[in-house]
Amino acid sequence: MDRLCPECGSKVVGRRDKIFCSDMCRNYYHNKVRYRKESPIRNINNILMRNRRILESYSLKGLNALSVTALNEDLFNFDYCTSTEMHRFGRRCYYCYDYRYYISPKRIVHFGKTKEIKHQSYQKYSYL
Ligand SMILES: [Zn+2]
Repeated sequence: MDRLCPECGSKVVGRRDKIFCSDMCRNYYHNKVRYRKESPIRNINNILMRNRRILESYSLKGLNALSVTALNEDLFNFDYCTSTEMHRFGRRCYYCYDYRYYISPKRIVHFGKTKEIKHQSYQKYSYL
């Protein structure tokens, strides 16, 4: 029975355990599988990096506060952050890598650059 290449459908010639017709098809196939597997990670990383870019671009313009609405219009995604921290008076602080922000009751986002990059593994230790 003819074996067919799972990538291009061509007949596979050669050793019995050979799966792909060529190195090119084998590489292409495995790259495709890896790309699909890593896509949720890539999507979240892209969201976080876009959030950081937005905060950085306003910071570089000298701004440190904007409305939630204004950031939403820039496609800032409030569903993702790299870490959060509870501050005094019950104010929750969010980190996006080296940027920190909190949202006031009037839905103003106050933000600024920090000296440290916060991510979830740091947060665990801060509560010990
Ligand atoms: Zn092939």
